[in-house]
Amino acid sequence: MNESAQLALYQEALLAERTAILRWDLKTDRVYGEDALTDIFPVKLKDKSYSDFLLHSLPLHLNDKKYFVSLVDFIKKPHPEYTDATCERVIEYRVREDSGEYRWFHIRYIIHFEKEWPQYATILLRNTDSEHRRAEELQQKAQRDALTGLYNKGYVRELIKEALSVPGTVKALLVLDMDGFKKINDNLGHLFGDAVISDMALTLTEVFSEADILGRVGGDEFVVLIRDAADRDAVIRRCEKLRNMLRRSFTYGDGKELHVSGSVGIVMSPEYGSRYDELFGFADAALYEAKRRGRDMQVFYTKEIQASQKKSAEENSVMEKRQAFLSNPQTFVFQMLYETGDARITVETLLALFARYFMVQRVVIYQQKRGQWVCWFEWHAEGYSSANEAHEGAAFDYINDNFQQEIYGLFSECPDTTQIGGEAGRTLIERNIHAFLHAGILSEGKRIGFVGFDDCRGPRIWTKREHEVLKTFADVLGTFLMDQMRYEMVRKGYWHMQGVLNAMPLKIWVTSSKDGKVLYMNSLTRKALAGPENGEERNCYKVVTDSNRPCIRCKYFKLRGNCPVGLRLKHDAEQKNITPVTVLWEGDGDSNLFVDRK
Ligand code: GH3
Ligand code: MG
Repeated sequence: MNESAQLALYQEALLAERTAILRWDLKTDRVYGEDALTDIFPVKLKDKSYSDFLLHSLPLHLNDKKYFVSLVDFIKKPHPEYTDATCERVIEYRVREDSGEYRWFHIRYIIHFEKEWPQYATILLRNTDSEHRRAEELQQKAQRDALTGLYNKGYVRELIKEALSVPGTVKALLVLDMDGFKKINDNLGHLFGDAVISDMALTLTEVFSEADILGRVGGDEFVVLIRDAADRDAVIRRCEKLRNMLRRSFTYGDGKELHVSGSVGIVMSPEYGSRYDELFGFADAALYEAKRRGRDMQVFYTKEIQASQKKSAEENSVMEKRQAFLSNPQTFVFQMLYETGDARITVETLLALFARYFMVQRVVIYQQKRGQWVCWFEWHAEGYSSANEAHEGAAFDYINDNFQQEIYGLFSECPDTTQIGGEAGRTLIERNIHAFLHAGILSEGKRIGFVGFDDCRGPRIWTKREHEVLKTFADVLGTFLMDQMRYEMVRKGYWHMQGVLNAMPLKIWVTSSKDGKVLYMNSLTRKALAGPENGEERNCYKVVTDSNRPCIRCKYFKLRGNCPVGLRLKHDAEQKNITPVTVLWEGDGDSNLFVDRK
């Protein structure tokens, strides 16, 4: 192929790509090769100077002019950083056609330097208008709801979030929903329903201003953010106007009528927060209230709605907990203990859950302590006496004496206390215990407590499920909760004990039996050691002998089976006044408490 044929081929290819290549001589400010522009650029290069053309003749979009101003400024100055090299400048810009419409272009300047001075630039100019329009269409599709042309759910959320983050003005978030829309669909068809939705969107654009943000968030549900809602009455007036426009009747079949209207839930920001998802939930709750009160009205979100929302959330959470417990009791108890970190709260919550679920009026846990039966926890419904009053005397003895091994476990149960007779029967009935089911809490095969239900309203047959649940709870209590409670008691005891130890006129400290780390020092020990604070990592040899190494021979070598390194004291004789005691210490189980009697 000869040179001119090759050139023709390049030109054809460039044209097909709607691209032109030109050369800009920066010394003379002239451009060569503008013939290539004919089909792709709407403006002819009229000026002698290309810079003048860019800055004064080219009908640029107002926002794009600044790029060319900076380019012309750039090529008029030396740039030592590009000495004998090239650099590139890319600009995307819009040019106005004779018709008044703007077209998009993409221009690349490859600027060549001689020493630090720009000499010439190769220009690659591309008409990118159709690409831009396609991208805009796609963007539009991603942002707009196809039926109404309003913003779609995802995009309106972003826009409103942004608007809510601007502080300083009172805003109102509205959620609107058509009343009785389903009947339109059912009786007049889906297409007619679509038209009603489009019409509703149009009505919204008429009622709200351009500054407000409108979007469709569901079938017949819309959201509006009023950016300036300081005047609450104006918000109400707009809602009323909207509702007047939405209230319609449709006739179908042989004269049957359908009525539609609109309901609105409103929440004010920042009064109720500035987070979109939260505010949307509040406006939705207000909308629900508007529907509940009879529809075709607007309702503002208030503290009262908030309170009732909270209450129903709590009720739901109680339901969820109940379900969770019933499907996996052990996991649930552990999880709850982990979350609350408190055995008492866990047990109390569970007792209340049981009572509600099994519709009993009293749930109790008794534990045997030094030969006495003590009521550890109880829950009773309002209007019924406490376990201490109800279970006293013969009633308690009867329940306690009648534990028997049954297929589900160790139970004391009675479906109807009128059948018991004698003093026990009379006492039980007197105290409104008409039926009971109590399960034994076992530890190493011995009954150490029991947990039970009382039905105070009448006789009942205890079901298999009730036996199972009670048995599970008793097992969990027996194997875990009692230990946990004991541990908590110990911990509380030590808080008290620490106070006592601090006040003693002796040096007292506690070390871990695992690694000899000091867990506690009383005031006198701390004073004697001039400084180290409680909790500071110190080993016993440091505390006792101020040595940095474990002692060679440790007096307490035999204190524990496996000798912890740090328990070796330097000289037996020196330390003869130190008495070690094994104690249960917070967070460390068995530990060594030392009392220095010197
Ligand atoms: P309420 O007063 O409680 O709001 O009752 P309603 O009859 O308006 O019922 P609701 O708002 O719960 O139902 C909205 C219906 O809108 C449910 C769904 O079948 C229908 N829907 C959802 N999207 C479209 C859609 O794009 N076109 C049409 N025609 N119907 C839709
Ligand atoms: Mg509706």
